[in-house]
Amino acid sequence: MTYKSIIPLVLLIALSSCKSQLVEKKVTPKPKNVILLIGDGTGLSQVSSAFFFKETSPNYARFKTIGLIKTSSSREDITDSAAGATAFAAGIKTYNGAVGVADDSTAVKNLVEIVSTQNIKTGVISTSSIQHATPASFYAHAINRGLYEDIAADMVTSEIDFFAGGGSKFFNKRKDGRNLLVDLQNKGFKIDTTALGSFEDIKQQSKMGYLLASNHLNPTAKGRGDYLSKATELGIQFLNKEPDNSFFMMVEGSQVDWGGHANDADYLISELIDFDDAIGKALDFAERDGNTLVIVTADHETGGFTLASTPKKTESGETYSSYKEITGTFSTKGHSATLVPVFAYGPGSEAFSGVYENTEIFHKILKVTNWIDKN
Ligand code: MG
Ligand code: ZN
Repeated sequence: MTYKSIIPLVLLIALSSCKSQLVEKKVTPKPKNVILLIGDGTGLSQVSSAFFFKETSPNYARFKTIGLIKTSSSREDITDSAAGATAFAAGIKTYNGAVGVADDSTAVKNLVEIVSTQNIKTGVISTSSIQHATPASFYAHAINRGLYEDIAADMVTSEIDFFAGGGSKFFNKRKDGRNLLVDLQNKGFKIDTTALGSFEDIKQQSKMGYLLASNHLNPTAKGRGDYLSKATELGIQFLNKEPDNSFFMMVEGSQVDWGGHANDADYLISELIDFDDAIGKALDFAERDGNTLVIVTADHETGGFTLASTPKKTESGETYSSYKEITGTFSTKGHSATLVPVFAYGPGSEAFSGVYENTEIFHKILKVTNWIDKN
């Protein structure tokens, strides 16, 4: 072998060893924490409204990874929030009205149950009662979403570490006369029914629960203000107070859906903007932390909401559609079957691109975190 022919050979060996090192180093990073934000009833037009009606840049614009999910339930083309949240929380398709139970009404393990055996902290936040279908699906099992007192009892036996929402009456004004707030306190909870505190106020507590309404909280425009953003920040601080621990937190913008049902565009858009503010708090933390996966999605779309052109008349009385002015219009008082978007940020986020079933949200979370059920 000549000297000249050896050089390319040496180069080739050097290059191939470099290449194998690169391949070995390309391990997918596992997120330590997961924050799942569910905008109830938030389809693409609802999300788009932030781009036209929010005065600052929407936090939705901060995501690079986008997917779409199919939301049908086991028996219906159009899901309700119970089957929709159970798909996220337990990874199964079930019937409308089912909270944490399968199509045959048997209880199915949810994310909170799976991860809390692994010393992972958990929290749920909503602007509805905490027993309403979406938050309930993360800690309760009920064959019918209307069994609010049974769902409240499941909070006592769950391993949740932090919650904020409404629904105090299902704990302390019950048909069976029990006061489950006492049971929660016996389990280590501090319960506050007055207002969100500061992190300094609560950091010594092992578990913290806020119940700030007898049933649902008010709309943001009617007194709730920035509760959802503040609760999101506080929940993150509380669940992350021992930074070696992982946490999973679900945050629901519950009332975007109610604006849709009411066919009230102002209500819907103000709730959507409020939810977008909470998304911003989760993303701010995830950016600082570098180890947190943020997923934003919806259980379904509500109202068949459209950012439509506005019917106008010319001076001579001819009707036309003005493209200079948006009118929020609706096609139904109920939900719709349209695919809904998924936004993901942080380590593991790439797994959330594509078009897939809503149940995959659960499976993808467990896969990218390696929080697989070890029991
Ligand atoms: Mg809901
Ligand atoms: Zn609804």
